[in-house]
Amino acid sequence: MILNKEHLAIRDTVKAFIEKEINPHTNEWEKEGIFPAHDLFKKMGDLGLLGISKPSEYGGMGLDYSYQVVFSEELGLISSGGVSMAIGVQTDMATPALAKYGSDQLRKDFLAPAVAGDMVCSIAVSEPSAGSDVSAIKTKAIKDGDDYVINGTKMWITNSTQADFICLLANTSEGSPHSNKSLIVVPMDLPGITLSDRFDKLGMRSSDTAQIFFDDVRVPQRNLIGTEGKGFRYQMEQFQEERIFGAAGALKMLEQVIKDTIEYTAQRKAFGKSILDNQVVHFRLAELQTEVELLRALVYSATATEEYINGEDVTMKASMMKLKAGRLGREVTDSCLQYWGGMGYMWDTPVSRAFRDGRLTSIGGGADEIMLGIISKHMGTSPSR
Ligand SMILES: Cc1cc2nc3c(=O)[nH]c(=O)nc-3n(C[C@H](O)[C@H](O)[C@H](O)COP(=O)(O)OP(=O)(O)OC[C@H]3O[C@@H](n4cnc5c(N)ncnc54)[C@H](O)[C@@H]3O)c2cc1C
Repeated sequence: MILNKEHLAIRDTVKAFIEKEINPHTNEWEKEGIFPAHDLFKKMGDLGLLGISKPSEYGGMGLDYSYQVVFSEELGLISSGGVSMAIGVQTDMATPALAKYGSDQLRKDFLAPAVAGDMVCSIAVSEPSAGSDVSAIKTKAIKDGDDYVINGTKMWITNSTQADFICLLANTSEGSPHSNKSLIVVPMDLPGITLSDRFDKLGMRSSDTAQIFFDDVRVPQRNLIGTEGKGFRYQMEQFQEERIFGAAGALKMLEQVIKDTIEYTAQRKAFGKSILDNQVVHFRLAELQTEVELLRALVYSATATEEYINGEDVTMKASMMKLKAGRLGREVTDSCLQYWGGMGYMWDTPVSRAFRDGRLTSIGGGADEIMLGIISKHMGTSPSR
């Protein structure tokens, strides 16, 4: 991917924003278990950063997805994974289907404020008894007059305690689990919506995650995104950007862990020389840096060079990069933590935070095994072929 002046301008803006507005606060937000999403998103919205690839009619920059990849990659410089994940929910997980299939009115009412940073949003797919198997969700949205009446529970929802609206996947009819679902925009201030306490998590500690309960929640049918019954397909499509975001966001995060480890091991001495001077250490870091560069090549080629920006289906490559980002994330942070010795085991060292935060990549948004299943299907080797 050749970066032009606009790509570089976005990269520089994001980097400067992170240095000034985010990283000085991440230690405090990690301790509090939440960050001020409204405040931060408004500042990002003012710079146009929440709508890089969103249509200009709704306040976006209207640029192709290669610019969004540059944005996502730069977010890897945030020293707390929870903040970058929350931004990604707003830009790449909860709003792609709304931007593509939402009615004009729905986009004016919800997409435009999300792009401006006036509203915070969440994507609500997972449930207590259905995570990997999205087709098994039980939440229902049943038509009654001009409304849908929603009942059910959503689980592990990022941004939910601060969200103004969610993009909800629910069953809108009986029948085949792949054609009975719809995506619906649900404002969070409606009667009948309640939340659990924030979850206490292994990592991503600056991000708020909770359960959402729906008890006879009425939402107008005009809040349906696109066509009723196509929600499962829209969500599978929406997962593409979530997975590309996850992989692009891992690149600089992992490089930072490698850089921090080089710095630490260069000054830490054992047996009369630096830890870094042991060949086993610097060779391993060289190997890991090579792997990160290979992941970057996959992200760039699938999304930017020729495929995603030209409207091609990148399901297989998006699954590959998500799988690789999860596995490599575990490898890099685990290997690096080892070279920090006892310091690596301390809660507040950057490598230990990255180890905890990065662990989610192999689970959230489709676990490694789900990615392997999709890749196998595309290879024609799955038993369902
Ligand atoms: C911090 C955090 C934030 C999240 N944010 C959101 C959010 O904003 N919105 C949202 O909708 N969801 C969110 N999730 C949910 C997340 O997407 C799910 O946890 C994930 O999809 C896995 O579902 P599950 O936890 O139910 O795992 P399960 O489906 O119970 O699976 C457990 C494990 O079994 C294995 N497994 C599953 N299926 C197979 C298979 N076919 N073959 C082999 N092995 C298999 C995998 O290793 C998997 O990890 C979040 C989760 C966390 C932890």
